This record gives sequence, C-alpha cells and structure tokens, in this order.
Amino acid sequence: MSIEILLNEFKVAASSPNQLLKKYKDEGKKVIGVLPYYAPEELVYAAGMVPMGMWGSNNKTIMRAKEYCATFYCTIAQLALEMLLDGTMDQLDGVITPTICDTLRPMSQNFRVAIGDKIPTIFLAHPQNRFADWGVQFCIDQYTNVKKMLEKIAGKEITNEDIQNAIKVYNESRAARREFVKLANAHCDVVNPIQRSAVLKAFWFMEKPEYTAKLTALNAELAALPVCDWKGTKVVTSGIICDNPKLLQIFVDNNIAIAADDVAHESRAFLWDVPECEDGLMALALQFKNIDYDVLLYDPASAENRRGEFVANLVKESGAQGLVLFMQQFCDPEEMEYPCLKKALDAQNIPHIKLGVDQQMRDFGQAATAIQAFADVLSMQ
Ligand code: SF4
Repeated sequence: MSIEILLNEFKVAASSPNQLLKKYKDEGKKVIGVLPYYAPEELVYAAGMVPMGMWGSNNKTIMRAKEYCATFYCTIAQLALEMLLDGTMDQLDGVITPTICDTLRPMSQNFRVAIGDKIPTIFLAHPQNRFADWGVQFCIDQYTNVKKMLEKIAGKEITNEDIQNAIKVYNESRAARREFVKLANAHCDVVNPIQRSAVLKAFWFMEKPEYTAKLTALNAELAALPVCDWKGTKVVTSGIICDNPKLLQIFVDNNIAIAADDVAHESRAFLWDVPECEDGLMALALQFKNIDYDVLLYDPASAENRRGEFVANLVKESGAQGLVLFMQQFCDPEEMEYPCLKKALDAQNIPHIKLGVDQQMRDFGQAATAIQAFADVLSMQ
C-alpha cells in the first residue's frame, strides 16, 4: 500500500473515534474507555475487549461537565467527562480512571457521580513511590482490582497467558511507534506534523494488531526512501498533547518539521516496554516502575534535573534547533516543571517557546505569530 493511502487511513481513524466505537459495537465487541495516564491497557486487550483512549476533544465545548468540575480543571479532563455526558461515549462498556495528577484524582470521583450507573467506572490509583517493593506490590494490587472489574464486564477470566499475549502485542506496537518517530524525522518531507500526529493519535482508537500491521507497512515504505534534505527548521515538541490539526498547520505553513517529541499523548506513552516476567501483572507493574524522565511521576533525584537534561539531549540528538512547549492551561505538573526544563534548555543554548493551549481554542492567531517568529529565529541560527 502506498504511503499516501496509509497516512490517509491513519488520518481517518484519528479523526473519527466515534465511528470506530460504533463499528466495534456493531461487531459485538465490548469497548473500554481509558483516560490518561499509564492505565494497563494490556488488561483490556487480554479480556478480549477494545480499549479506547479518552484524551478530551478538539471539537467540543464544555457544557454539561461544568456542573461537576472546578473551573480550573484542564480541558482534557473536562472534555472527557463532557463526552460521557453528551452521549458521545454512551456505547462504552466501562471506563478506567487513573489518578496520576491533582485534577484526575478528584475527577475520578466526579466521573463516578456524573455518569452514575450508566457506565461502570474502574478506579486506578498508581503508587506515588513506584520503586520500593511495596510500591510495586501496591501497583500489582491495583492492577488486580482493574483485572477483576474487567473480567466482570467481559464475562470471562483473564489468564496469565492472555496477559502475556497482550504484552507482546503492545510491545510490538511500542517498537513500531518508536521506529515511526525516527522515520518521520528522516522523512519529514513526506510526513508532515499533521500526518505525524494523526499516525500516533490513531493508536488510541484502533485495534492494536491492525494498527501495528499498518504502521509496520508504513515504516517499511518510509525506510525505503532516501533520507530527505530538509531545508526548513526542526523542533522537538513537548507537553501533554498537541494533536489539533489547525495548530499543527502553522508548523506546516512555516516549514517546521517535528524531529522528535516529549509529549504524553505521543512518545512518552511508548518509551518503555513491559519487561519479560513470568507473572503478567508483575511485568506490568515493573513497567510502571521503570518509567523515567516523566514530569507526571515521582523522581527521587528531581533536584538533579535529569528530566530537563533528557529533554535537552533529545533536542540535540534528534537534530532539532529548538523546542516548542505546548502548555495545557491549568496543568499543574507541567507548569511546576517548566522552570527546571527552561534551566536545562538554557544551559545547552537551546531556544524554546512556551505556548499556552487548551482544547477549546478555536483561534490560533497568537500561536501563529509566535511560531512564525520562532521559526525566523531558528532559521537565522
Ligand atoms: S493536562 Fe495536566 S492537569 Fe490535566 S489531566 Fe493531564 S496532567 Fe492532569
């Protein structure tokens, strides 16, 4: 299949999750909504159900969710609830609500109250300290609870073999996405920022074996092309999510390619494979333990600013000239980390800009001016 056809298929999948949800239900499948971050989706797959990522929406306005949310909750959380209240996600068979940040913790209960008995909610509290043995055990206990609730919804037991099979499927997908990110950098004349985003976003909605098969085919086509001689500029993107095609169009208009990303919705979600371990739940807990350089997770050595250096090195190693940080409005973890990130970037003389965004933005005039000016600065370096 040609690159153009494959890219278009990912674009369609990324832009029409509710059509996919309807398709899965028409096929008699059960579907579980999965909120950010780090829910063990493998368990949903192992139960024979389809996981669907719920990262808010670029096309909706917060109306009904206001009743349950403080105004300073980020739009990602509020719009996820909006979709559960306005009927968009009525066909879901359950929702997993992780509680990594100070918004998601209360939101997990707001979801429960707001949707009542309509859809079962599965509460998931990851351990704050994920390194100690008792942190790993806490994670296993939580995942055991998620597993039990998924078994109830699926009407079937999830065996260790089911989990091991799911881990294999997900690790293959992670490897394919890591490969794609590198190839998209080498072939940024063929994969523009909008297409790159759509490929990575489609993962959250498509069935994983189908997604990985298509992405592997796309990777093979891209690998066969000569590396492009890019005349524009390259940046690394950072933040929680930057999937709005209108925002990314500004990159295209200014000949800015994305060399790599430090985005929770993109690369941060597939940097760490699940390690091999005879006990599938232990393997999933160990993967959570192994995650590093993540702004949302506890780092006992945070004073050393390892994460800031990691991101700065990503800019250098990917061949980017600068970094664009998409700061979600009211996102405490990202806002609190920013001074450390800035310090690390400044120390390596890496230019960056910080753009305040949220999912209800419809006018990108200010962002366009800032990105255009940034592209001019980078091109003069
Ligand atoms: S955007 Fe920030 S505040 Fe909102 S759910 Fe994500 S981490 Fe929490």
